[in-house]
Amino acid sequence: MARPPAGVVPVSVSGATRVVGLLGWPVEHSMSPAMHNAAFANAGLDYTYVPFPVSPENLPQAVAAIRALGLAGANVTIPHKVAVMQYLDDIDEGARKIGAVNTIVNNQGRLVGYNTDGQGFIQSLVEQGVRVTDSKVVLLGAGGAARAVVDALLSARAAFVTIAARSGDKARDLAGNYSGADVSGIDWQHDRLSRQLTECDILINATPLGMSPEVDLMPPVNWSALCSKSVVCDLIYNPLITRFLQQAQARGHQIVTGEGMLAGQGALAFQLWTKRRAPYEVMAASLLDQLKA
Ligand code: NAP
Repeated sequence: MARPPAGVVPVSVSGATRVVGLLGWPVEHSMSPAMHNAAFANAGLDYTYVPFPVSPENLPQAVAAIRALGLAGANVTIPHKVAVMQYLDDIDEGARKIGAVNTIVNNQGRLVGYNTDGQGFIQSLVEQGVRVTDSKVVLLGAGGAARAVVDALLSARAAFVTIAARSGDKARDLAGNYSGADVSGIDWQHDRLSRQLTECDILINATPLGMSPEVDLMPPVNWSALCSKSVVCDLIYNPLITRFLQQAQARGHQIVTGEGMLAGQGALAFQLWTKRRAPYEVMAASLLDQLKA
C-alpha cells in the first residue's frame, strides 16, 4: 500500500464528523490539510479538513456548498481571498480593513469571513519571544501579506511601521490607510530608509523575493545600517531559511521563519471553527515535517 505523504494523519470519518474545507486553485500542494488534521487529532476533535480545487468561475457555487453541505467552515487561498467576500453574509471588521478573507465560519448557515494572516504573524513572533508592543518595524513589500501584517502590527501597538517597497507610491498608499497612526511609506532605494534601519527592532520581508525556485533573490537591505539587535523575519517558508535570513543570521540577528505565520494563521482559524485552543506546536511541527520532506 502507498505510504501517505509526510505529516499526514489518517482520519476516521463518521456521520458525525465536522468537515472544514480549503477553497483554492490549485490546492494540490497545500500543507494545510496535514497541518489541520494533525491538530484535530491532537485535540481529540471529530473534525476533518479537506482541500477542494475551486476554479474562479465555480467560487459562488463552492461558497453556497459550505451552507448546503453543512461544513463547519473553510479556509480560502489564492486566488479567491478577495473575490470570496461578495458571497459571504458578514465580514469581520479586521478582514474588511485588510480587504481579504482567509477563513470562513459557518454559523448555522450564516457565513462570516475573517482574516487570520496578520494575527498569525504576530503569534509567530510571540512564540519566538519577540516583543511587538512599542517596537519600530521596517516592512519590505506593500502587497496583500504586507497589508495584513501592518494591520496586525498596529493592533499589537507597534510604535512605528515603515513600509518600504520598490514602488514608493504603493508603499505610501498602504500607509495612507492609517492616517493618524504611526506609519509611513517609502521607496526602498531612498536614503531615508537607512535611518529607519538604524532604529529598527523588527525587519520583515513581505515580498516573494527569495521564494523557491528563485532562491538567490532577496530585497535590497543596507545591512551595515541595520540595528544589531533587530530581529529579522521572512514571510516566505519555502525555503525555510531564505537568502535574506541567511544574511541576517550571518550578521548575528535573531531570525523568524515564515512557517510560524502559516501555523499561526491556521491556529487562529482552528479556534474560530472549534472554539477550542489550537495546538500551535503540533501545527508548526507538521509544517516543518512537510517542508523537510
Ligand atoms: P503580493 O500581493 O503579490 O505582493 C508582493 C509584494 O512584493 C508587492 O509589494 C510587490 O511589489 C513586491 N514584489 C514582487 N515581486 C518583486 C520584485 N521582483 N522586486 C521587488 N518587489 C517585488 O504577494 P503577497 O500575497 O503579499 O505575498 C508576499 C510573500 O509573502 C510571498 O512570498 C508569500 O508566499 C508570502 N506569504 C506567506 C504567508 C505565510 O503564512 N507565511 C502568508 C501570505 C504570504 P509590486 O506591487 O510593485 O509588484
